[in-house]
Amino acid sequence: MDFLIRERVAVVTGGSSGIGLETVRLLLAAGARVAFCGRNAERLEQAARSLRADFPQAQLMSAPCDVLDPASCHRFATDVVQTMGAVDMLIANAGQGYVATLDETPADAWLSETQLKLHGVLNPLQAFRAQLAASDIGSLTCVNSLLALQPEPHMIATSAARAALLNMTHNLAHELITDGIRVNSILLGMVESGQWRRRYEQRADPEQTWEDWIGGIARKRGIPMGRLGRPEEPARALVFLASPMASFTTGAALDVSGGFNRHL
Ligand code: NDP
Repeated sequence: MDFLIRERVAVVTGGSSGIGLETVRLLLAAGARVAFCGRNAERLEQAARSLRADFPQAQLMSAPCDVLDPASCHRFATDVVQTMGAVDMLIANAGQGYVATLDETPADAWLSETQLKLHGVLNPLQAFRAQLAASDIGSLTCVNSLLALQPEPHMIATSAARAALLNMTHNLAHELITDGIRVNSILLGMVESGQWRRRYEQRADPEQTWEDWIGGIARKRGIPMGRLGRPEEPARALVFLASPMASFTTGAALDVSGGFNRHL
């Protein structure tokens, strides 16, 4: 499919693993030039090596950047513009969830979750905002979670922070469209990726295979499609929303949960 982003520049935060890495891959396959970041330099280099092997002609750059640090985001933005030129699309994906019930959640985790979910989008947005506004196809696309609408007691702080992000993206969509920047998000259910691999490594039964463990989670949680999503599935939704293929869509929150949503 032609996403109409050939030679356009996309930035993906948290592009070194999981959903972010698959998003970078799909953007490159669609002919875009891509910059991505993460905090861990080694993981970034590993991701860049695998992408260069698959896309030898790719115009690709990666650099360490912590989305929680405004100065780090501004340094990254300066590097990106110098190396890749004007930026058209920002995909705010970096982050992770916090698994804890009310009684397990320390006071500071409420603050750090909210900070990650809101400032993890706002800091890169502020760093790239002028670029996006100058583009004729400017877009911000955020990774959010179904928890925003369907909170879970075992992820109480993350659920609240996700709801705040959904609320914020709605307002951003209305405010930024005056600069021509579309703002959309995806609402994820459970997707196989780095976070789940790390939880698998701490499974109770070391004999259990990945397929059994992940299939068991899907069954236990009652996901109608009977499986977790694969990172390339949210990646497709992200690239669609970020691209001019979604040129009349702003303020949308697209469900990518395998039917796990229970709300109307
Ligand atoms: P992964 O752990 O595989 O990837 C997370 C990426 O984000 C890594 O590249 C990581 O690199 C980067 N990252 C994390 N924190 C920061 C930071 N402060 N600054 C810059 N980069 C950062 O996770 P997923 O692919 O599963 O998750 C991607 C997004 O989807 C996350 O926001 C997650 O919360 C969300 N999500 C995922 C779900 C799932 O089931 N997988 C469900 C709901 C939401 P590094 O650690 O080197 O910084």
